[in-house]
Amino acid sequence: MQVAVIGAGVVGVCTAYFLAEAGHEVVVMERRNHVAEEASFGDAGLLACDAVAPLAAPGMPASALSLLRKANSPFLISHKWDTSVWRWLRQWARETDLAHYQINRERMHRLAAYSHQLMLQLREHYQLDYEQNAGLLQVFRSEQEWQQARIAIDFLQAAGVAHSALSAEQTRALEPGLHAHTPLAGALHLPDAESGNCPLFARQMRQLAQKLGVEFHFGCNVRSIRQSHRGVMLEVDSAHYSADAVVLATGADSGTLLRSLKLSVPIISARYHAATATIRNFDALPLNALMDEHHKVSITRLGNRLRVAGMAELGKRNDKARDTAINTLLKVAYDWFPDASNYNAATFWSGSSLTLPDGVPLLGACNVRNVFLNIGHGSAGWTMAAGAGKLVADSISQRATDIDADGLTALRYAG
Ligand SMILES: Cc1cc2nc3c(=O)[nH]c(=O)nc-3n(C[C@H](O)[C@H](O)[C@H](O)COP(=O)(O)OP(=O)(O)OC[C@H]3O[C@@H](n4cnc5c(N)ncnc54)[C@H](O)[C@@H]3O)c2cc1C
Repeated sequence: MQVAVIGAGVVGVCTAYFLAEAGHEVVVMERRNHVAEEASFGDAGLLACDAVAPLAAPGMPASALSLLRKANSPFLISHKWDTSVWRWLRQWARETDLAHYQINRERMHRLAAYSHQLMLQLREHYQLDYEQNAGLLQVFRSEQEWQQARIAIDFLQAAGVAHSALSAEQTRALEPGLHAHTPLAGALHLPDAESGNCPLFARQMRQLAQKLGVEFHFGCNVRSIRQSHRGVMLEVDSAHYSADAVVLATGADSGTLLRSLKLSVPIISARYHAATATIRNFDALPLNALMDEHHKVSITRLGNRLRVAGMAELGKRNDKARDTAINTLLKVAYDWFPDASNYNAATFWSGSSLTLPDGVPLLGACNVRNVFLNIGHGSAGWTMAAGAGKLVADSISQRATDIDADGLTALRYAG
């Protein structure tokens, strides 16, 4: 089959690779000039399948509301807020009870754990090096937040995931660079989690896909998709392109193409912020990736740089990084590893990712024939990219998928 993949972020590139591996003729269409220029560019670098969890969690609506009123809140409201955001938030709130949380977390974990296995296989097979480091510490500042981590610990125990719940003292022994004066109630250590450089991985996957025959066309904006005798017809700038099937791997900007297909799914774009600073003191570095659970900000090492990322902003897309977000990122970096880098010389970036109320992406066939989705990965798109790409490629090839696709497809919104 000839398959067009729209979007050359990490998700599109992985999808193209697995489609070509399954024997399809694949063309990737990307409006930018290189792979991984949007969300995949400033990705925090966490590959932590066991920490992947929906934002729709018990207690979250109340705690998000109270956090929004505080300085350094991990969530921001876009200046371009409109009624679609309220609609989405109502759907999100319905997913926050324990029963929905457990279902959604299992779905996300199923996909992310599969993705992790595939990445390990790719890494070993092709000897990939994308500046990967092992270990994640999720740190909790207050006793109350540490108590709330019980739900996550129960999930990890039930799923048989390697983890340790550490006291403040044990955490500081494991991560000696942590600043002694920053309040710490406890931490969850996930030794098998990893972090690395997402755009570097995407560039490596592009090369592997090209070796399998995938063609990349850059500077092509796909404006609409319609069904045709053959399969699908894409309107690309002022030309038309036909293929047997198409995959939308269009990240945050999927709305226009979904509307051209008259597909209605509850998506919202969330913008995240990132600061990148060169390491100046290798003795004061984090040994593990760190996630500050109070601020929902991560600190990861990418080669000789540190990336500090988080600060979700819901609402319409907005290109300028928010000062409040930048201040919080810098505060978290100084709070935990003050001497590791000169954060005043950091560069700032922000990028958007598409999220569904339940936090689970939309993969595979939808109710428009020959159109396949690979969208809605939220803040865990790199962690899920390989698994999502393989699952979508298998469903296009009409092969049995390696994992159960139940709950991961658009079927959950049918009717
Ligand atoms: C600051 C930040 C930190 C993050 N941290 C993590 C993390 O630690 N771990 C993790 O797993 N995930 C993380 N994420 C999420 C992850 O980066 C995204 O989920 C992932 O990059 C999504 O990949 P994608 O390929 O779907 O989207 P993108 O990388 O945005 O790619 C979509 C591509 O589609 C192209 N496109 C869109 N519409 C069209 C069109 N009509 N025609 C042609 N091309 C089009 C765009 O130009 C773009 O290149 C983070 C995201 C951000 C922003």
